[in-house]
Amino acid sequence: MKQWVRWAAAIGAALALSGCGQGVDGRRIENPDPAEWLTYGRTYDEQRFSPLKQIDGNTVGRLGVAWWAEFDTDRGQEATPLVHDGVLYTTTAWSKVYAFDAKTGKRLWAYDPKVPGEAGFNACCDVVNRGVALWKGRVYVGTIDGRLVALDARTGEVAWSVQTTDRSRPYTITGAPRVIKGRVLIGNGGAEYGVRGYVSAYDAASGKLAWRFYTTPNPKGAPDGAASDKVFAEKAAATWSDGAWKQTGGGGTVWDAITYDPGLDLVFVGVGNGTPWNHKLRSGGQGDNLFLASIVALRPDTGEYVWHYQTTPGESWDYTATQHIMLADLPIGGQTRRVVMQAPKNGFFYVLDARTGQLLSAEKFVPVDWAERIDLKTGRPVETPGARYLGGSASNQMVGALGGHNWHPMAFSPKAGLVYIPAQYNRGFYADPDSFAFTPGAWNTGMLRPARGPTTRPRLDRPAEREPVRGELIAWDPVAQKKRWSVVFPQMATSGILATEGGLVFHSALGRLTAYDAATGRPAWSYDLGARAIAPASTYAIDGEQYLALMVGAGGAGSRDVPRQKGRLVVFKLGGTAKPPPYPAPVDAPPLDLALATPSKGDADRGAATFANYCANCHGAGPYFPNLARSPAILEPDGFKAIVHDGALKDRGMAGFSRFFDVAATEDLRAYLLWAAKTAPPEPPKSAPAHGQ
Ligand code: CA
Repeated sequence: MKQWVRWAAAIGAALALSGCGQGVDGRRIENPDPAEWLTYGRTYDEQRFSPLKQIDGNTVGRLGVAWWAEFDTDRGQEATPLVHDGVLYTTTAWSKVYAFDAKTGKRLWAYDPKVPGEAGFNACCDVVNRGVALWKGRVYVGTIDGRLVALDARTGEVAWSVQTTDRSRPYTITGAPRVIKGRVLIGNGGAEYGVRGYVSAYDAASGKLAWRFYTTPNPKGAPDGAASDKVFAEKAAATWSDGAWKQTGGGGTVWDAITYDPGLDLVFVGVGNGTPWNHKLRSGGQGDNLFLASIVALRPDTGEYVWHYQTTPGESWDYTATQHIMLADLPIGGQTRRVVMQAPKNGFFYVLDARTGQLLSAEKFVPVDWAERIDLKTGRPVETPGARYLGGSASNQMVGALGGHNWHPMAFSPKAGLVYIPAQYNRGFYADPDSFAFTPGAWNTGMLRPARGPTTRPRLDRPAEREPVRGELIAWDPVAQKKRWSVVFPQMATSGILATEGGLVFHSALGRLTAYDAATGRPAWSYDLGARAIAPASTYAIDGEQYLALMVGAGGAGSRDVPRQKGRLVVFKLGGTAKPPPYPAPVDAPPLDLALATPSKGDADRGAATFANYCANCHGAGPYFPNLARSPAILEPDGFKAIVHDGALKDRGMAGFSRFFDVAATEDLRAYLLWAAKTAPPEPPKSAPAHGQ
């Protein structure tokens, strides 16, 4: 080769490596620069393992804050910051997108999709967003009101925007898009309310819909003209019987995991729970109800079905299988197997053959009593008698609807051979309601919701928790299916996880970010964030320095036991000396003076039922959302009606309820809250230590 040809080739390669406006594409995501973080789980296999090692067990003691930013929202922060070409892209609650100079922290642009505040009512688990996707000079975000938006990566200008959902149904998007072979894949949420789940692929350049795969049958019995038609006609529709799914859409939302194997050319999506949860009401107690609670493998070009594995046939407990799906090569039975791994809500850790979906192993990673084990021959759980709460019985079981593991991403260190699971213990109470009627737009789980008023008692009381909630960072050997080490916290919903070649695992709980030795679990460093983080950290390098980026701010499912704090992005490096100011101390509201209340002629017993049906999911536990029995809003009827019935605070996420109940029922609710305020024990002060240490 002539000298100039070699130079030209070398310059071309250098340009390609440095990015230079080429943007992110499949080749880059498949062979990522170790210095970058290009997609949600860093690589298509979503191992969340970085090859960077400047920060290791010897140097981590010098880790300090390089820069930080504070946002305009105090709701949950779940995003993974992505980094390409020196720019860090992240999202906050309410689906807002930000671009920063990743070295200096200078804000380059911001994009606000201006989600209507009342759209927050449709989000079961807070108005969170888990981040963006990058592709060829564009940034893609899904919004809480169901849009998929493409932005110019340099300016934040909108390139295109499509509505991916039916705005008349309570769909939301909280998950990060993934771009595979030039198509943006996005799912949605809403299965507690009444929607039909699906995943869509849009052309990254134009925003045109390429294909859609539904996860539940068409209630009208007709084909959709979608990629899922064939498999529903052949086998999936027959797994459904008569029931409420024909009104609700059946659920099965694809709200989080989307993972791709370029070698097998398969995309794996995780499918959520049924609507209603209650299998008896949903499908007459009959049938497996495909593809609820399943991992489904599809062809990324067409959405064509290839295989599925259903973790929880006849799902009846909100046991979603939307949780993190991770691919890895594991030594199993004397050979290297390409596997899919998942720790879904139901408490079992699954290892499947990635090509065929064959179940290789499944073991409990937290205490589980709804099933004894997974039968490896049939692939089905051996359920415990009573778990299905039939015949008027209730089941108070491990695990509950928050899951043994929820959305908080795991990480895998190929070096240590361990998967790190942010697990949690919570017990679930399940019982048939006395009656069930689908209420469009409302909570439609088909569960008994115990309501206690001045003279009414529920048919069944929710039993007291037998054990305190807890979180557990588990280092799990996926080959032996055994716990190698773990750390326990008196907190649910701890953070997602990052593992690195530096031999460290980064995890946050109780308001501290801690680096653990990946092999032993020995803490090597920790930092007081001042507020809880639930998001996973990501890492990148610029000019020879390794950085660690973390979104801070509690919220989302299982994190309503702390007051809200402004969301922050905190970025660390070795020798960093920046000092974010402490968060303001939470202020205790003055005690409610009930002598000031206008007495209510409403029916407090009826109000108790209304509260259980419409209010308790958000306002049943504080202090993340206001405790209504402590709120001055209940003191007089007109102001209470303006907020609760008319929606005076809808821009802040408190939708009006006039579509669900009338003015008289609103006053019944106020009568109940005044009664509850009189009888409730005093609330612990918010200014007490928030973390219960
Ligand atoms: Ca759910």
